[in-house]
Amino acid sequence: MSEESSNKDYSKANRIKIHQPDASKADRFNPRNRIYVRAVDGLWSSLRRRMGWIAMLFFLILPWLPWGDRQAVWFNLAEQKFHVFGLTIWPQDLTLLAALFMIAAFALFFVTTYLGRVWCGYTCPQTVWTFIFIWFEEKLEGARNKRMKLDQMPWSFDKLWRKTAKHTAWLLISLLTAMTFVSYFVPSREVYLEVFTLQASGAVYFWVILFTLATYGNAGWMREIMCIHMCPYARFQAAMFDKNTYIVGYDTKRGETRGPRSRKADPKALGLGDCIDCDLCVQVCPTGIDIRNGLQYECINCGACIDACDSTMERMGYAKGLISYTTENKLEGIKEKVLRPKLVGYGVVLTAMILVFIYASANIASVRIDIIRDRNQLYTENTQGMTENTFTLKILNKTETAHEYQMHIDGLNNYKWYGPQTVQIAAGEVLTLPISVAVDPVELKRPITKIDFIVTTEVNGETVEAKQESRFFGP
Ligand code: SF4
Ligand code: SF4
Repeated sequence: MSEESSNKDYSKANRIKIHQPDASKADRFNPRNRIYVRAVDGLWSSLRRRMGWIAMLFFLILPWLPWGDRQAVWFNLAEQKFHVFGLTIWPQDLTLLAALFMIAAFALFFVTTYLGRVWCGYTCPQTVWTFIFIWFEEKLEGARNKRMKLDQMPWSFDKLWRKTAKHTAWLLISLLTAMTFVSYFVPSREVYLEVFTLQASGAVYFWVILFTLATYGNAGWMREIMCIHMCPYARFQAAMFDKNTYIVGYDTKRGETRGPRSRKADPKALGLGDCIDCDLCVQVCPTGIDIRNGLQYECINCGACIDACDSTMERMGYAKGLISYTTENKLEGIKEKVLRPKLVGYGVVLTAMILVFIYASANIASVRIDIIRDRNQLYTENTQGMTENTFTLKILNKTETAHEYQMHIDGLNNYKWYGPQTVQIAAGEVLTLPISVAVDPVELKRPITKIDFIVTTEVNGETVEAKQESRFFGP
């Protein structure tokens, strides 16, 4: 821990009490109430940093991974195809995407019911980027006290270069973030080459500028305001919490009565609990709350206050864990219960959705056929006296390579096919084919005959078939 951490004596006279707005009371949009987050080291902060790095690296590297002659992860909106390594999702497969969103939702419900808001504290992009921005702030403007003094100082060369360097670093990270994000939708090489050679389309510039400003604003200026006032998850999490959900909690019984004392003093003799009221847990909190006031919706379960308090307990020679990941039941001395109906329910639905998704992805069709009947006339009689129906076939090659497709009809005897019956379709292309089918009226047992159009092809040595039902009309 930096700065005041070197204080050896926590008696009232030696402590530096610094204004830190309480999230629940202060006007968070007033710049005077901005939170100066103090750096902290410890188990949970180091875990959060590592998870942040992993998430960031994934985000940056994924659009650069190749898969054949295309980008491995590419949400191609122009052609309405989502590529995720070997899997290509077409608009017709949107149920797969819906299943994916449901998996994400139930995973969030499951994890939140069990571990509280760990998503917010460890992997939410808002938290990851905010802590990256705070890291730059700390390196360029100094530790918490220095930053507070710098902001109160009149403008000088020192203040100017530090502020300029910080905002330049923030803007560069924001630009990198925006370009990486756009690279998931437009090939990354194009984005980087065209943006810097001023050849990108207006849409690319629009999204790059928008996401740059959004990242800069959210992680640089808005920070906890996003979590407290704008994030819907903070609002509906209460519905998932129960008394066995893991929260960051302060052990009131052990900590109170709080109060300063020297390290050598016996707290019991002074009538004090273990909290020395050093304020470190408040100073390291990215949302500016005091966890000693109990569970608050502003708490993102980041664990920074646990690390801060543990370091204080260590220095005082007290047992760690005055603030810890715990449950309301544990704090009240009631035995915690892991398996409860809500958690089991979310777990069962989540597992089922994952299995459905795996099955559906493994059985995704590589060819699709759509039939459109001629709406102008039900049937015609051709020059040979045969009954003729006209159709438009749309055949979609959903694979990554060109294939030859054969077509035939089931449910009609001795029919004549007018039009090509074998076609070549390029990778990812849709072929629109107008055809006619004619049959001797004696073959028709009723005015409307149910028929199936069948398309077959060979994919990786296997015969693949797509079928679409239609009707053949006769006299
Ligand atoms: S109270 Fe503790 S866990 Fe909650 S947001 Fe603040 S520092 Fe993080
Ligand atoms: S809870 Fe811990 S970190 Fe917070 S004021 Fe008390 S002793 Fe200090």
